[in-house]
Amino acid sequence: MTQVALPDAVRLKLELMFEGVRYTDALGAAAEQAFPNFYPYRFQPGERDPTGTGHATIPYLMWTADGTTVRVKGSGASRWRVESKGDGFLLIHDGGESVPITFDPRPAWMNRTTSDGTPMAQTGISLHGDMAVVNVAPGCQYFLADRQGGPSLRCTFCTYGAPDARTAALGQDMAATALPVATYRRMQETLAAAIEDREIRNVYLVGGSMTDWHEEGERFITLARHVHDVLDDRVPVSCGSGALPAESQRRLHGEGLVENVCFNLEVWSRPLFERICPGKQRFVGYDAWIGSLETAVGLWGREHVYSAMVAGIELEPEHGLTWVDAADLVDEI
Ligand code: SF4
Repeated sequence: MTQVALPDAVRLKLELMFEGVRYTDALGAAAEQAFPNFYPYRFQPGERDPTGTGHATIPYLMWTADGTTVRVKGSGASRWRVESKGDGFLLIHDGGESVPITFDPRPAWMNRTTSDGTPMAQTGISLHGDMAVVNVAPGCQYFLADRQGGPSLRCTFCTYGAPDARTAALGQDMAATALPVATYRRMQETLAAAIEDREIRNVYLVGGSMTDWHEEGERFITLARHVHDVLDDRVPVSCGSGALPAESQRRLHGEGLVENVCFNLEVWSRPLFERICPGKQRFVGYDAWIGSLETAVGLWGREHVYSAMVAGIELEPEHGLTWVDAADLVDEI
């Protein structure tokens, strides 16, 4: 039977992913108890800004009553807002629809420090519901290509891989594969505290890309070993690196360090990949990326290999595609 309409939970999640929610005092108040969003709310010109600073901390994740999780994206143009109701919150559409929600709470470990006095909130661990994300090397070398005389080779949609205060706090040297010993130790202490605090069902290793995929393989093997020392097979781990060469994958798999891999192709079709992901194209290449995913399927098996796509990026005006062209591309996958 052909499904002609999206389930309500999927429709709501999609709408909020694209439209976001606009700022209210209730959303600001919720942030005091909620897991914080790494991307602050940015007020539009003319939008009421009770902080007087142009930006505000907002929660990271909301839950609806049926257990659907939705990332909180701030947008002053959204028709959705959050209001308080009793002990909880309502998500309210300007058209009248309202949905009871809760926010993912701020865990106790975020207010603690590691044994050397580093705030655990700055050790490269974040939560997405029951998933812990480990990102101790967020800086991406594709961002630095412009410093070598050419244009930046970052993915066109990416704002999170630039070297910044996070990379400095984690001691990431943008030219080096290894991270400081203290960075791994602090991450381990925080990860141990996080799995003590709530049920974590997945651990996801991510980070910025390296221009040499063999070096990226070394970085993720080392990271996975440190994570494995903490988890000891209690929680499945996914490797969310860029595509890795076969030799690195065989070691990751052979040592039993991760149960899944996720190499993000971001967009389907060679011409779009070349334009949208110039760094991935230059340093790995479209065919090698897909070949790497096929190698992974041969090692980990079906349902253990993933590749995220950036929804809707084909429809950015510079690509000149109609929605029918874009839908045809998705049909090819
Ligand atoms: S590989 Fe692309 S998406 Fe990933 S951090 Fe680098 S620029 Fe961003």
